[in-house]
Amino acid sequence: MSERLDVDICVIGAGSGGLSVAAGASQLGQTVVLCERGKMGGDCLNYGCVPSKSVIAAARAATAMREAGKFGVAPVEPQVDYAALRAHVRGVIAAIAPNDSVERFTGLGVKVIEAGAAFTGPGELHCGAYTIKARRFVIATGSSAAVPPIPGLADVPFLTNETVFDLDQRPRHLIVIGGGPIGCELAQAHRRLGAEVTLIEALPSILTKDDPELAEFVKRRLRRDGVRLLEGAKVLRVEGRGDDLAVIVDKDGVDQRVAGSHLLVATGRRANVKDLNLEAAGVKYSPKGIEVDAHLRTTNRKIYAIGDVAGQYQFTHMAGYHAGIVIRHALFRLPAKVDYRAVPWVTYTEPELANVGMTEAEANKSGETLRILRWPFHENDRAQTERETEGLVKVIATKSGRVLGAGIVGPQAGELIQLWSLVISRKLKLGDVAKLILPYPTLGEVNKRAAGSFFIPKLFSPLTRKIVRFLAKFG
Ligand SMILES: Cc1cc2nc3c(=O)[nH]c(=O)nc-3n(C[C@H](O)[C@H](O)[C@H](O)COP(=O)(O)OP(=O)(O)OC[C@H]3O[C@@H](n4cnc5c(N)ncnc54)[C@H](O)[C@@H]3O)c2cc1C
Repeated sequence: MSERLDVDICVIGAGSGGLSVAAGASQLGQTVVLCERGKMGGDCLNYGCVPSKSVIAAARAATAMREAGKFGVAPVEPQVDYAALRAHVRGVIAAIAPNDSVERFTGLGVKVIEAGAAFTGPGELHCGAYTIKARRFVIATGSSAAVPPIPGLADVPFLTNETVFDLDQRPRHLIVIGGGPIGCELAQAHRRLGAEVTLIEALPSILTKDDPELAEFVKRRLRRDGVRLLEGAKVLRVEGRGDDLAVIVDKDGVDQRVAGSHLLVATGRRANVKDLNLEAAGVKYSPKGIEVDAHLRTTNRKIYAIGDVAGQYQFTHMAGYHAGIVIRHALFRLPAKVDYRAVPWVTYTEPELANVGMTEAEANKSGETLRILRWPFHENDRAQTERETEGLVKVIATKSGRVLGAGIVGPQAGELIQLWSLVISRKLKLGDVAKLILPYPTLGEVNKRAAGSFFIPKLFSPLTRKIVRFLAKFG
């Protein structure tokens, strides 16, 4: 016999989205149950953002040693100890884990059940030893690596984001299938940590969701780092055993054999819907994820879905954003809706590649007459002192100066894009950015200069010169 619980909110999944809803709701005096079948903290903490950025930090340190010569400091080839690298990654996770722990959430008054949850009806689910009825349910079950049906793949050992951070020896030759952000970040990091790396992408280019003009900088750097890029290469089959593997690809109609020791599959994400028995709850879903309306309600109005499982933007900050919408809509009964006009995303390669709002290609479809503003990092004094001059700010604006989107490729792009998030979400004008007083020398000046370039044609036009000459004469 299972124990019955009757609560205000039942959250399924203790990742970025689920934890935010559970913490918010319990602090607002709601009774909350949180169901988690794996590790508290979900993908971001255990298998995603945190371990990947920790590995990237190590790779940056190795590159700094190798490239120190440009500062007059003797360069050295770094000795990388993968077991110590793994300990570093685990140490970072351990430092953050208490924020997401069962103890913390129990302390907040949340009843945490460490088991898988599945619906038994439209207003009821089963989790571990409990049957739970709730006024509202929030599905926040995230996503998992989508493993494509490549012939031979099931017969060889391969890595995904759930296992790649456990490597305790350097791969001799890492083959990465998938040139999205995850594939690119990990390909570059492992190359910089001393592994041979081949990155295979079926589409004509890697990083296809980003502006190709900006992605080109990342491509160039990956190649310079020594990553072998195979774009437009369709994987036909995988073969081998142990650490003697081969991926056979079709590149331009010719079969090529890529031999390596380890294989990482990073070919996209699949929403975690399978074990939830959503049919019993009347919740519709597709391979892309759970269907939601603008309030993040599913086809069952008592059930919300947030984060990766709701499909569209699979980022930690979007899971957090969704959580805020659900709290306002479900608890405060406010008409809170999602607004995707200012969604930022960052690929943490070097150079970093960041975007917010529309890309140029998307803006072209809007029918607006566009002004495209560009400012290169090599014109920035701080970038020169840091010897990080590769990159570009690109702002997509209307003729009247309304900003539709911005992209940055270059040092600290993930930090620098945040100004444009504010500009787009608060509907600020380019003049607001151009008039800022910024500390010198900072990388942020690239944003001001890009905004300022909007006014240059008018400012130095023949008419303006005439007016100034007139005022000088008679003023
Ligand atoms: C390698 C990698 C790097 C990434 N880097 C970044 C980055 O730099 N920045 C960024 O914004 N995003 C990044 N992401 C994406 C980010 O990790 C996700 O967008 C984020 O974790 C989604 O949060 P979530 O709450 O939707 O799901 P998750 O964090 O995945 O949490 C879902 C939880 O639900 C649990 N669960 C699933 N089914 C059930 C069930 N039936 N019952 C009970 N529990 C269940 C799972 O065990 C899991 O703990 C990265 C992802 C990967 C894989």
